[in-house]
Amino acid sequence: MKAFRCCCSNTLYFENSHCLQCGVQVGFDPATSTMVPLTKDSPFQWCNNGLQHGVCNWVVPRNPAGSLCVACQFNHIIPNLSVEPGVPAWARFERAKRRALYSILQLDLPLVNRVADPVYGLAFDFLVPTPALPVTTGHQNGVITMNLEEANDSIRERNREQLREPYRTLLGHFRHELAHYYWYLWFEKPPVNFDLLNGFQKVFGDQRVDYASALQRYYTSGPPPGWQLTHVSSYATMHPWEDWAETWAHYLHITDALETAREFGMSAEPVASETSFDPATILLPPPLTEEDPSDFLEIIHRWSALSPALNEIASSLGQRNLYPFVHSTTTVTKLYFIHQIIQLAENRAQSLPAAPVPPAAPATAAAPPPSPGSAPGVAPLPSEVAPDNLTKDLHTAQPQAIRKG
Ligand SMILES: [Zn+2]
Ligand SMILES: [Zn+2]
Ligand SMILES: [Zn+2]
Repeated sequence: MKAFRCCCSNTLYFENSHCLQCGVQVGFDPATSTMVPLTKDSPFQWCNNGLQHGVCNWVVPRNPAGSLCVACQFNHIIPNLSVEPGVPAWARFERAKRRALYSILQLDLPLVNRVADPVYGLAFDFLVPTPALPVTTGHQNGVITMNLEEANDSIRERNREQLREPYRTLLGHFRHELAHYYWYLWFEKPPVNFDLLNGFQKVFGDQRVDYASALQRYYTSGPPPGWQLTHVSSYATMHPWEDWAETWAHYLHITDALETAREFGMSAEPVASETSFDPATILLPPPLTEEDPSDFLEIIHRWSALSPALNEIASSLGQRNLYPFVHSTTTVTKLYFIHQIIQLAENRAQSLPAAPVPPAAPATAAAPPPSPGSAPGVAPLPSEVAPDNLTKDLHTAQPQAIRKG
């Protein structure tokens, strides 16, 4: 994450809505990746979800009717704000969502919503479980569902302990589920690039393994012995889709944390050669073979230096490790696959080879006109408020790729 400055030169942080030094209202402009002052002459205003509910600090071009920002335009179902846990829980999820989408925008990955592409567009549903209608955090066919209950620290911590996870955060949920979304976009949207899919299978395994059986086996027997040498987390051993999602999330944890360290002037020099990864051992199968993996390895080696320091700083403050993971040659190779496929998407104007031209936006009477502040390819998505007794196919259908819990 970048470090930001106010017009008065005070340091601003990504979540700030006001400068604590000069008092000016501020917001994040996703088009320029800067914090902008919202004075009365400003060409910007807060997104409607900021103006009306105080849950968003991203800006849109000033307009009397208001509009949703790039991040909020992907909301499909928002919680009923008049009942618990209401606005505070939603706000915590929105905060994590914006941070996750910041990285996606920085990486220049495709972001298309369900109005522009009703089949392969991205949407978020924020749901509150009831005894009759449990909610499972997960992704299916472009729709990411979040269980609002996890905004509660004690519930999330209980889930973390029950599932024997060293790390469980709302930001991690978004990164993990977005990984499933990009799998769907890049490996299920026809025409599928089978060369890339074959490469995936060589690195992560065959994703055609029955998901429901794998899920049951994982929660019955746990991860296989020695999994730490081959997977970034125990959950990644469950199925190749989960391995992809967990590894993707780690790649974003690492690159975002390194950007933050650099922006705040923290040194993260690569580790000494005796603990570094050898370029000769992290070779990828075609078509992702690259002559020189030095740019990628610099990321890993900087992280190998910084992450133990972060863990020690956390220990010095009486907190548990910030990054309780150790990488092996195999997990670094998987991270390299993620790095390469993201590079490929960036270098190919936001799509992978063989990806089709997105279908034209359908004429939808209910859809409001695109916001002038929208990112390319992003059209607004009308939000609905979840009724108390909402039910969805996602929770009764056979999951294709569904998150733990
Ligand atoms: Zn200021
Ligand atoms: Zn917003
Ligand atoms: Zn998952």
